[in-house]
Amino acid sequence: MELNKDVELKSSVRKAKMKYRNFPMVPRVVFGSGSFDQLGEILMPHRKNADAPILFLIDDVFEGKELAARIPLIFNDRIIFISALEEPKTEQVDALVSEIMGEFSELPSGVVGIGGGTLLDLSKAVALMLTNKGGAADYQGWDLVQKPSVYHVGIPTLSGTGAEVSRTTVLHGPKMKLGINSDYTTFDQVILDPDLIKGVPAEQWFYTGMDCYIHCVESLSGTYLNAFSKSYGEKALELCKEVFLGDLTASDSREKLMMASWHGGMSIAYSQVGVAHAMSYGLSYVLGVRHGMGNCLVFQHLDEFYPEGVALFHKMKEKQGIQLPQRVCEGLNDQEIDTMVCVSLGMEPLWENALGKDWQKTITPEKLKSIYRKI
Ligand code: NAD
Ligand code: ZN
Repeated sequence: MELNKDVELKSSVRKAKMKYRNFPMVPRVVFGSGSFDQLGEILMPHRKNADAPILFLIDDVFEGKELAARIPLIFNDRIIFISALEEPKTEQVDALVSEIMGEFSELPSGVVGIGGGTLLDLSKAVALMLTNKGGAADYQGWDLVQKPSVYHVGIPTLSGTGAEVSRTTVLHGPKMKLGINSDYTTFDQVILDPDLIKGVPAEQWFYTGMDCYIHCVESLSGTYLNAFSKSYGEKALELCKEVFLGDLTASDSREKLMMASWHGGMSIAYSQVGVAHAMSYGLSYVLGVRHGMGNCLVFQHLDEFYPEGVALFHKMKEKQGIQLPQRVCEGLNDQEIDTMVCVSLGMEPLWENALGKDWQKTITPEKLKSIYRKI
């Protein structure tokens, strides 16, 4: 026990001293149409025994659908359908973990998340909290998680967030919306099967796809930019342009958006997002506006920060025939707007990436209020 503590302490001192961050990556990935059917084989070596189940957390849009029937259930494995109508919450993670702990005599062999960013994040958080004491909210922040999670697999059914590659799981907590950023958060395995994103409604396809596009713009024009992030960001941007401005076949679009999401996620691993994300967190916290849509609602008004990116965004929106909701912030009172501003200003690394160390000279609460009032 003491030895472990010592090792943990040394590793956190090492982390603090390290000049360059030492990031984990997804160690295993399968890509290809129909690759979902390899899931059973992939899981087999990770099954500890018949009493240690694999838990499949699946977006409830798939309840009663063909995909659910293809889950390779054996022993006491369990499928848990979860609604993605609301973004994941720390209390939801805690409730799921206590339900699982109460039901099974053994720690699960693994957790498989199937869905968009919401389900991917939920499954990462559940995997972490099965081995770490306390509640999920205790770990919101950077590098607070002490113990490796249970084996966890991510299978996206919607592309754009990059949650399949990132070392964070973004949760609404009692105080704020903040990620559990840790080396243990990253998936152990990802399955990228472009067939799974067939049938995503056009608007959702656009909003989540624009999350990826905005990741690229924010990363590529940020002050944290470096050759690592740039290489991934440029590739993702090129793929986004093909998908949203080109005339690809549906199957090409699916494959390319899936890879754009991956590269966009990799790009921000070694940099940061920027103004749209910082402000979108505020919108989401007060109004529950979903991540992809929230980013679009903010980004359309950010031509002062990202002139080329915003111009291209408008072209993509037109080409895809998307109408953004109007007058979203109209009915808000001053206190609600203040809360949004406060949540947004709390995202210091995002502002610093966007505008440099002196960001507070340009960004004032009044400035943010004026942008929110336009939404
Ligand atoms: P989502 O997972 O919230 O899903 C949006 C909607 O699409 C839901 O109604 C869902 O049921 C539906 N859906 C999903 N797959 C579908 C399919 N194949 N067919 C039809 N409908 C489908 O959307 P998202 O934009 O992927 O994820 C947003 C979440 O991701 C937010 O909670 C955000 O905070 C998080 N996020 C996480 C990271 C990260 O690095 N961890 C990065 C960006 C965003
Ligand atoms: Zn995002």
